[in-house]
Amino acid sequence: MKFKKGDIIIAVILIAAVGFWLYNSYVSNNTAVSNLVIEVDGNTYKKIPTRELKKEQLVHIDFENNKHIDIIANENGAWIKDVVCPDKLCQKTGVINKVGQNIVCLPNRVVIYFEGDEEPLVDNVAY
Ligand SMILES: [Zn+2]
Repeated sequence: MKFKKGDIIIAVILIAAVGFWLYNSYVSNNTAVSNLVIEVDGNTYKKIPTRELKKEQLVHIDFENNKHIDIIANENGAWIKDVVCPDKLCQKTGVINKVGQNIVCLPNRVVIYFEGDEEPLVDNVAY
């Protein structure tokens, strides 16, 4: 089998592009997200390092008047499994898994979001 010079150049460019893309996604996957943060009433209720999300975590928080919220977090992200909440907007938000996304439950004053490392995610996207 014989390749033309042009074919080899194209192959090299393709391999380099794929390598660059893999490197970029590796870097952004590993530096962008560091903790899952759950805030209640403006105070940090719980911080879970993302490496601990390899094992699924269930966070159950009880509020006054028999209200509660159940938050599930694993490698795929975090979401509201069950909540006593009049609008259920928090549950409808679905899964979050990136810095900058959040789940807000206004009636229960709960905010859930992913915290990044010192470098914001925007820096990784810019290159
Ligand atoms: Zn809610």
